[in-house]
Amino acid sequence: MGANRLDGKVCAKKVESALNSRIRTLAEAGSQPHLAVVIVGDDPASHVYVRSKERACERLGIRSTRIDLPADTSFHEVLETVNSLNQDSDVDGILVQSPLPRGMDELAITDRILPEKDVDGFHPVNLGRLVQGRLDGLLPCTPAGVMYLLKDAELDLTGLKAVVLGRSRIVGMPMALLLAARGADATVTVVHSRTTNIKDHCRDADLIVAAVGRPEMVRSEWVKPGAIIVDVGINRVDDSSIDRGYRLCGDVEEEVESIASYMTPVPGGVGPMTIAMLMSNTVRAAEMRKTP
Ligand code: NDP
Repeated sequence: MGANRLDGKVCAKKVESALNSRIRTLAEAGSQPHLAVVIVGDDPASHVYVRSKERACERLGIRSTRIDLPADTSFHEVLETVNSLNQDSDVDGILVQSPLPRGMDELAITDRILPEKDVDGFHPVNLGRLVQGRLDGLLPCTPAGVMYLLKDAELDLTGLKAVVLGRSRIVGMPMALLLAARGADATVTVVHSRTTNIKDHCRDADLIVAAVGRPEMVRSEWVKPGAIIVDVGINRVDDSSIDRGYRLCGDVEEEVESIASYMTPVPGGVGPMTIAMLMSNTVRAAEMRKTP
């Protein structure tokens, strides 16, 4: 028997339907949530992600403005763009698409976004609130999407041993905080590139969240039978048998599906949830600004 599928597409639709009524309430008060997306350069994957975000806005009736800046835009010009969006009272949410061109200080740009417009949830104020256990603000979209998926499947995480692979500021670290937060109550281990015996940590885990960006790193023999598996990774692997020349895969090998109790697919798992949570943060930002 294969694992139950944690289907991000189905779950994202539920998030969107719950947002519809909140967007209607805002409309009745004369307001339409407005997301501004800044994209610097022409990284093809980033353009695909931004297009998906725009389509989600269109579906929900959220206004979106896209600001395309050339790859040779200076750091100063990006900061100026953020400044003017901060000052624009029409804009509720600001997102600067990652990755920025090599050498550009992403943290300094994140710092410049007003915390109340930081719909990515990466500003130190928003991450700091998360560390304090205040979960009612703007949370990082990918980890928040994972929590939503687990909750939607009615999985009780209390006391479970969770292993998060990866300690990035956008996925791994906030993921660990959310899993360990009061209400979720998992016991969390974070592993990274300097961890020894990663396989043993995984083998002992009731829940694994893989966010390393290493194709199919988590093998079947690393997984305890019945474990819950969340695969955040999205990797492009060369494959000449496919017209486009590559296939997408996660950080977990597909065969794990026959051992796990629950598992997210790639694609169609965490990806759609990340976008749904961005929409949710944009609506939340609009609500907070209109009803402080
Ligand atoms: P980063 O590159 O920022 O972080 C990767 C983390 O994995 C680091 O902490 C790194 O450790 C760790 N790591 C790398 N290699 C190994 C290894 N061999 N063993 C153990 N740990 C390792 O990536 P992100 O967090 O931004 O993204 C992770 C993955 O998730 C990527 O595939 C990305 O595409 C995907 N992603 C998917 C999203 C979605 O919506 N589905 C959204 C965001 C990301 P160290 O800190 O020591 O370097």
